[in-house]
Amino acid sequence: MAPPGTLRVLEPATEAVLAEVPEATAADVDIAVSSAKAAAGAWRSVAPTARSQILARIGDLVTSHLEDLARLESRNVGKPIADARGEMEVVAHTFHYYAGAPERLLGQSIPVAGGIDVTFREPLGVVGIIVPWNFPLPLAAWKVAPALAAGNTVVLKPSELTPLTALELRRLAEEAGLPAGAFHVLAGYGPSAGERLVTHPDVAKIAFTGSTAVGKRIHELASASLKRVTLELGGKSANIVFADADVAAAARAAPLAVFGNSGQDCCARSRVLVERSCLDEFVELFIEETSRLRVGDPLDESTQLGPLISAKQRDRVAGYLDGITPTFRSTAPQGHGFWFPPTVVCPTDPTDRLAQEEIFGPVATIIPFDTEADAVEIANGTRYGLSGSIWTRDIGRAFRVARNLDSGTLSINSNTSVRVSTPFGGFKESGMGRELGPDALESYTEVKNVFVAVT
Ligand code: NAD
Repeated sequence: MAPPGTLRVLEPATEAVLAEVPEATAADVDIAVSSAKAAAGAWRSVAPTARSQILARIGDLVTSHLEDLARLESRNVGKPIADARGEMEVVAHTFHYYAGAPERLLGQSIPVAGGIDVTFREPLGVVGIIVPWNFPLPLAAWKVAPALAAGNTVVLKPSELTPLTALELRRLAEEAGLPAGAFHVLAGYGPSAGERLVTHPDVAKIAFTGSTAVGKRIHELASASLKRVTLELGGKSANIVFADADVAAAARAAPLAVFGNSGQDCCARSRVLVERSCLDEFVELFIEETSRLRVGDPLDESTQLGPLISAKQRDRVAGYLDGITPTFRSTAPQGHGFWFPPTVVCPTDPTDRLAQEEIFGPVATIIPFDTEADAVEIANGTRYGLSGSIWTRDIGRAFRVARNLDSGTLSINSNTSVRVSTPFGGFKESGMGRELGPDALESYTEVKNVFVAVT
């Protein structure tokens, strides 16, 4: 048990205590919001060029501290060090990308009778940001950088399980010259600190990434004051492989698209839809590739998969497999740590719980299909619509299927979905609004329309 008022942060690979940090309460949220509100006027009036320079300096400092940040994230989340380094590069890139924004927050001039009409993109005020534990710092940076670039001040609540790199980011932002009060980080629990942030009358917007269940709760709470919300929620994405694709390439790429980050990825292509005529070839290669994945110490350079985040998450994943005999189960370390081996279930009925619910662990379901229409129907047959892939050599089919999928972020002959300069987000219960690219920037502003009479 952590001492009262303290969050005990664990290392999932060993179950050892990594750090103890003060637990932020609802009262701490009130103090932070009031400080962010007081700083809002000063920050929005900093000249755009100077705002750009501060954001760029944050990106530079993330780069110069990249190894320390990556090691901290790797130990706290249990993610492979090579992945953690890549994520810190994304964090630095995000600040550098949005450093270009303050001078490009362009309005319009609109032809009207009797005068001149112009629009401005105004900051919202104080933005509350709530993020989960699976990609702690990138998911925070995707919101903090555009929110600050647009002239808002920010109160960030990282997950209670993984607050450490966010606390470091706040220190680096201060070193970069961000004015006091413009950016707060509060390590606290969802129902206390999180809900206070969502209901606080001086918070103009909540930008949230997390589960669909908590996203719905936040949407409901925020609606009382018509607070702006963007929600990046769960997924159950389809990886659709047609027989005319380079089946070997698709099969070799598919395991990491499910098992990467130990399956704790909202974009995990955890439903692998394979045209029946190439099913045997695909499954054989998929299992061969899965058996080669190196599961182990996150700080070992050769590790590809680490443990799950917590005992609770491991038990939840295991619960999905109760009474099921998997087609293949790989190996994972024994003893201390929240380990779970990559597991394959084939064939899975598309209506089965395993193929409908977000397991958020290293479990792949393989689902055969017969026609293009079947593939689209199965792919669209969940409440989610975040991501997905289409593998085919027929470019017409690739785009036809892409247009027919109810999903926000797709890739063709590739399993990568996320780039700092392109919009990312979900259809249906995977969320609302878009992160990254110019779309995210707009979501941290209000449009103001001003008419000037010219007589
Ligand atoms: P979670 O919803 O349990 O928690 C996310 C954050 O919300 C945490 O900081 C938590 O403390 C906070 N929270 C919890 N209850 C709250 C409440 N009542 N009010 C305010 N805040 C509250 O999610 P998790 O288990 O940390 O993360 C896993 C989930 O996140 C998965 O469903 C995954 O798909 C989703 N996710 C989505 C994306 C995306 O971009 N769509 C990216 C990563 C993760």
